[in-house]
Amino acid sequence: MTHILIAEDEKRIAAFLVKGFATAGFRTTVASTGGAALQAALTAEADLMILDIGLPGIDGLTVLRSLRAQGSALPVVILTANDSTAVTVAGLDGGADDYMTKPFSFAELLARVRRRLAASAATLSGVLRLVATEAPDLVPGLRHAVAGLPVGGLSGTMRKRFT
Ligand code: CA
Repeated sequence: MTHILIAEDEKRIAAFLVKGFATAGFRTTVASTGGAALQAALTAEADLMILDIGLPGIDGLTVLRSLRAQGSALPVVILTANDSTAVTVAGLDGGADDYMTKPFSFAELLARVRRRLAASAATLSGVLRLVATEAPDLVPGLRHAVAGLPVGGLSGTMRKRFT
């Protein structure tokens, strides 16, 4: 099941997101401080993170930069009450994949999340296709790694070959 990490300190918004994603068939984890968000992003094997900018402790932009500095490619969608261009640009420069400003429509957020997850699956699929063509002897070794990834977006052929 696709796992969404929600970094949000406002309980009402976090609960709203948890409910929305659960209804859409996702598993969720909530982190309510910047430190908890960074820790969870690095260890919880989430497929995507919704990241609030105004978090207690470490702010969202710093969480994002630390995450990228540590080599994580976890897709990140920024959710912020601050709709200033400077914050948006800082977020995208810092390695965010997308952003939304509050107040937001859950339907739109869900559409953006699905698009990011599809893009991740497409990248994974492309890499696997390349491996299968160029280095078929690596396929058995990759099966274990791929088994832990969200392969829902992979084509049937690729899924059969690698899982
Ligand atoms: Ca906040």
